[in-house]
Amino acid sequence: MRKFKSVNELVNSLKPEYPVYCIRLNEIKKSVKFFKDNFPGKILYAVKTNPNEKVIKQIITSGVNEFDVASLNEIKLINKINSKAKLHFMHTVKCKESISSAYFDYGVKSFSLDTKDELRKILESTNQAKDLELFVRIAISNEHAEIDLSRKFGALPSEALGLVRLCKEHSKKLGISFHVGSQCMHKISYSKGIREIGNVIKKTKIEPDIINIGGGFPSIYPDLSPEPLINYINEIKRELKNLKLSTLPEIICEPGRAIVAESGSTIVKVILRKKNNLYINDGTYGSLFDAGGPNFVLPSKMITNGRIQSKKLTAFSFFGPTCDGLDFMKGPFLLPNNIREGDYIELGQLGAYSLTFRTNFNGFYSNEIHELSDKPIMSLYDNQKDKVGFLVA
Ligand SMILES: *Cc1c(COP(=O)(O)O)cnc(C)c1O
Repeated sequence: MRKFKSVNELVNSLKPEYPVYCIRLNEIKKSVKFFKDNFPGKILYAVKTNPNEKVIKQIITSGVNEFDVASLNEIKLINKINSKAKLHFMHTVKCKESISSAYFDYGVKSFSLDTKDELRKILESTNQAKDLELFVRIAISNEHAEIDLSRKFGALPSEALGLVRLCKEHSKKLGISFHVGSQCMHKISYSKGIREIGNVIKKTKIEPDIINIGGGFPSIYPDLSPEPLINYINEIKRELKNLKLSTLPEIICEPGRAIVAESGSTIVKVILRKKNNLYINDGTYGSLFDAGGPNFVLPSKMITNGRIQSKKLTAFSFFGPTCDGLDFMKGPFLLPNNIREGDYIELGQLGAYSLTFRTNFNGFYSNEIHELSDKPIMSLYDNQKDKVGFLVA
């Protein structure tokens, strides 16, 4: 890993034949600071979003030392980086061996679940431990999210009540959680989730010790420009107040994308141009998964070695380097019309769900990662004050 002042400096000095992944640690500092300054509770970083060691270390240095983990390997990874970090096993479906090792080998006390069977597994695997924090994850609509998680996770209202009663009996601390889905484009999803928790509280007459509003906070993409995050936070605060509980429970959130998306870029090289399709050297089996099936449109910037860039922008689609037809990214990616074979492109907003998705398929794996200190192509944090997401470049 080397450090460069800018994307241009990196490209001109390395002229890389392989895709190069870049991390801007300063952007992580900024996003963590935003959450620490504004969120009315505790922040857990969702490790799966980007488990790169540099990224995790920067998150810890910026003041967040609690993590939402979903596997034994994520637990081992964080434990190795910082053995004092507090870990929360927030996957609702875990194998018994993982639960057991998490509890006995790594001191993990907090577990999430959405069925009675999972509760039974947790109790059996921890020898009926008496010091558990149990989170009942309730199902809520993911209608405003780009990535829907609601079919896979969450207890339906009919099951949630019984589960909350059971978990109250078997836990030291009871939590209720939800997840609005990833890249949630409307703050109302959070108030709906909190109201849903309010219904459970009313019906069970049990007030939880912890309310966990999950992740889902959006980042900014060329075609997905959310309201400022501060509006989301204010909506959450207002709705929590509306619960009118005797004592407000501890509040936690589990952001992933909103913490790291802006910090990552991939620099790719154009291998061939066929009309408005560019064949590039990274793709959906590399760091660009979200640009494939999920069809995220990424901000793109052409980098040339002094050659004049055409002012006319054209909408391009990309093909990745592998032999699979699925290795296609529809875009539209807006780039100068005179782009051609040999040019480089910076693709932004790839700090989340990107680096971690790379495979070795067809031999195109690249592990070149460097640090940058210039600004990302887009940012949601640079002017929260003006209450609009905006383009830096
Ligand atoms: C993935 C995940 C998150 C992070 O979601 P983002 O949309 O990236 O903020 C948080 N909590 C849980 C349980 C998750 O599975």
